[in-house]
Formats: sequence, C-alpha cells, structure tokens
Amino acid sequence: MRFRGLPVSAGTAAGTLRIIGDTAVDDTTAAATPEDVTAAFAAVAAERSALAERLRAAGRGSEAEIIAIGALRAGDPSLSAPAIAAMRDGADAAGAVRAATEGHAAAMEKLANPELAERAGDIRQIASAVLERLRRGGAAAGADGGADGAAGDFILVRREVSPADLIESAEEGLVGAVSVAGGASSHAAIVARGLGVPMIAGASPEVLALSPGLTAVLDADSGELTVGGSGPSDAQRAAAIRRRPGPRQAADAKRSAEPPRTADGHQVVVLCNVASAVETRRGLAAGAAGVGLLRTELPYTQAANWPTLAQQQSQLGPILELLADRTAVVRLLDFSGDKIPPFLVAQSGAEVPASLPAGAGLAALLAHPSALADQLRAILETGRDARLAMLIPMVTSLREVSRVREVLTATAAALGVATPPLGIMVELESTAANAAAFAAAVDFFSIGTNDLTGDVLGLGRRDQAAGPALAAHPRVLALVKGVAKAGREAGIAVSVCGDSAADARVLPLLVGAGVRTVSVPAARVSTVRSWISNLNFLACKELTERAVQASTAAEVWDLVPAL
Ligand code: PEP
Ligand code: MG
Repeated sequence: MRFRGLPVSAGTAAGTLRIIGDTAVDDTTAAATPEDVTAAFAAVAAERSALAERLRAAGRGSEAEIIAIGALRAGDPSLSAPAIAAMRDGADAAGAVRAATEGHAAAMEKLANPELAERAGDIRQIASAVLERLRRGGAAAGADGGADGAAGDFILVRREVSPADLIESAEEGLVGAVSVAGGASSHAAIVARGLGVPMIAGASPEVLALSPGLTAVLDADSGELTVGGSGPSDAQRAAAIRRRPGPRQAADAKRSAEPPRTADGHQVVVLCNVASAVETRRGLAAGAAGVGLLRTELPYTQAANWPTLAQQQSQLGPILELLADRTAVVRLLDFSGDKIPPFLVAQSGAEVPASLPAGAGLAALLAHPSALADQLRAILETGRDARLAMLIPMVTSLREVSRVREVLTATAAALGVATPPLGIMVELESTAANAAAFAAAVDFFSIGTNDLTGDVLGLGRRDQAAGPALAAHPRVLALVKGVAKAGREAGIAVSVCGDSAADARVLPLLVGAGVRTVSVPAARVSTVRSWISNLNFLACKELTERAVQASTAAEVWDLVPAL
C-alpha cells in the first residue's frame, strides 16, 4: 500500500509504524487486562531508568536526573493502582489510565511549590507512554507472536505531528514522521529538519487507520510511504538505512567551528536553530558556532498554563549547559502561528487559535504579572556560562522593546549578572519596513523569513503552499535587503534564522542582500557550510540586485545557479 504526502524534511527511513493520538487507535488497547496495565507501567519505569543510566554514562547528568525522576514516578504504585482498580470495576484500559493519571496531574498542578507543580507534565507523559506501550504490545502480539515490545526504529504517524513528539523520541528509535495536517512551514517540519528526520505532511487520513507495528519505508524525497502488501523492497530498506542521519554526523564531530568563507574570502557565520539538547549536540557536532535561535515555546504548545520558573529551568538547563562560551540566542516564548497553547486561546475568547492576531502571544507575555520575569530569570540562571543574547519574537512596536529591556535589566541586576544584548525578530512586514526606527532601540536583528514570507504572501504556518523557498519572492527579498541596510547603518548585527537560509535557492540571495550570519536547522549545518564555501560574494550581490527586479519567486529561482 502506498500513501503520498508533501515532502517537508528530506531523506528516507525504514521502520515499524507507530500511530498515535486518534480515537480509533485507542481501540487497540481495549483488550488490555489489569495485568497488562501493571506490566506497562513497570516497563515504562524500566525503560526510563535504563535511559537515565545511558545519559548519566554519557555525561549528560541533568537530563539523566529528569528522566530518573520520571522512572520513579512510573514505578510508583500510587499512580498505577487507581487505574487498575478502575479496570477491575469494568473501566477500559485507556479511560482508566487517563483518569487515574489526570487526577494525579491536576492535583499536582495546584500545589503551591512550583517545582512540584511542574511534575504534572511528567505524569501526563508517563500516561502517554503507558498507553503507547499497550498499543504496541497489542500490535506486536499480532505481528510477531508477542515480542517484548521493544520499540526499535519507528515511523511516527499522527493527525498533526507536534514538535514535542519528535523531540521526545529523537533518541529512542524515531526514524521518520508522517503527518496528515500541516506543511513545510509547520513547526513539526522545522524540528524534523533540525533533527534530520525524514517527514511528509498532508498525507491522506487513511494512514491513521493502518495497524501499528507494520513495517514501512518512508521516502520523504519523493513524498511516499510504502507499507503492507509485498512490503518495502530490500533495496528500499537498504537505501533507507544507508541514509539515516546519525552516524554521518558523528563523523563530523571533529569539524572546526571556524566560520566558513565564500570562495572569494568573505566570512559567513553559521549557527543552528534548536529547541532541545539533542538538536544542540547535533548542530555543534556538525560545525555550528553556537545557537542562533533557541525556540523556548515548543515544549509548551499544548500547555494548560504559563510555564513555571522551575519548568523552564529544567527545560533550558540541558541545552544551555552545552553552550559554555558559545553564542546562545534565546528567544522569549513565541506563542504565535501554529504554536498557540490552549490557555491563550481560552483567555483570548477566540474560536480558533489561527484567528489570534500575530502579536497576541507577545502581548499576553508582556501583560502577565510574572511570566516574562520568570522566563528571563530561568534563562539568565541556566545560561550563566553561555554568551547569551535575548530575542523578542513577533515585535510590532518600540514599546514592546522598551518593556522587555526594563524587565531584563531589573532581572539581571537582581541576579548580579551582566545584562545580555537584546534583539528582535524581524518577521512582520510592518516591522521590516520600519527597520531603521527599530535599529536605534535594539542590539541586533534576527530576520524570521518563515513568518515574514507568510505575512507578505498571505500564507499561514500550516498552509501547504507555504515553504522556505518562497523567501526568494522579490517582495520578501527587498524587505530583507532593507533590514540588512538598516542594521549596517546603525552598526548592529543582522542574521537570518528562518529556514530559507538552509534552502539552496535562497541562501545566495540572502548573502547577496548583506546577511553575514545565518542560523539553520541543526541537521543542515554541514550542508550550509559547504554551500557557503562554493559561493562568490560579488556574484551573490549581483544576483540579489537582479532578483528584486523580478515579479515572482519562481522567476527568482530560475536566476539562482545550482549549489
Ligand atoms: C521565523 O518566523 O522565521 C522563525 C525563525 O520563527 P518561527 O519559525 O519559530 O516562527
Ligand atoms: Mg517566527
């Protein structure tokens, strides 16, 4: 059986299907007995404690600690016992596990101690892992006579794959992803590219009805998932295995982090975009000079409340500890586009998240009595050893900049640390057009071509027509050129952190527009470095001059020579 989708993160992968999150899938847990549920809790505890051991042995102490706490909770009978009792009273496994764990999580969330309240998220993750285990267990029994359920390499299939899905399983066998919803500019696609995980989006909803555990091959270059029937050919499997991203990157580990130079000697700094420690390690290993965009909001896009200080400390610590003496541009929570959590929708009274105006997330952050100060404190405390810079997303006014600067200065002073540079994302057409006025008030610009392109061309983040290559549109390029000029005249740094910087049809145009620093998905760092060394700086300038005279992105693509 074959399913087609839009290629949003290149590569091929072979593995078993893991299908999550649809009600139909919950039916696969219907046959689970109380003993299966007890065993699933124990297996999740054992899996986590083994992972914690591996992380500890690899010197990743703070991540190990978080996972080890999860292991203790999963093994705690006070979590599993109410679910098992409910099943003995006739409840189904999925409902019983959800009700028992949700009761626990909701009670924890109400605790005054933020460190304990933060554990509510762990409890929910344990519930998902237990249910996932029950689903996999059922599929394994049917498929191969009941192996122990060891996961192995798997391709994740979900109605809307979320960035957190990918980050959480990046080092636990995830080799590919298939989403029914979304497109190339959705954040799941962005994280897939950061991790080097092949992914397609816009697949038929029929993929959700496939049986978990079937073997499949995902070809995300041509946009095809092959599953069942005669199954993937040996050649397809071999190609998928050869092209897995991990081992090659390990070989890049000794690569110099010296910025690459164009063929005619101009230096271009390459940083990486991350939301997790795993992406950060991969980006640095591939030669990134540091992190040019840390997306702090991605773990909280399904959150019921503003993240607490403790939650943010434990999320940021494992990332920032990898960045001692390196650039770490940390963006404030950017709840916008396809990243608007339920609590903000509820507060705004909007019917659907997409109807919130672009600046609503930043406005809510600034209006909250403590959310901004909490986040800044978490960053300043956990990033003491990094060369920190703070980045404000979705800026629309100078008032927003001065409010953040005020809270940043006060928070740094209270902690006795230096106030880091403060920059803004230039990702709305009106902000880009007024770059000269913003340049006087900030320390650097980071151009977000993902949103800027969408704003200029009227495309949403989940829109299947949206994608990084559209930043080649002359109207977008003209804005990028204007922002670079305003930055140069004001003497402040200008970088591009949108995914277009990792697109061969756009990178030469950005360099030609005057951009000297790019921040790209972690798994794209070595490719972008080698592209830069093939560029000729003067030729890029001429190319951009011609491109801004064109009328469409397609006309511009035709002008750009192959890299
Ligand atoms: C952008 O808009 O280009 C950007 C980098 O931010 P995000 O993709 O997280 O919206
Ligand atoms: Mg953006």
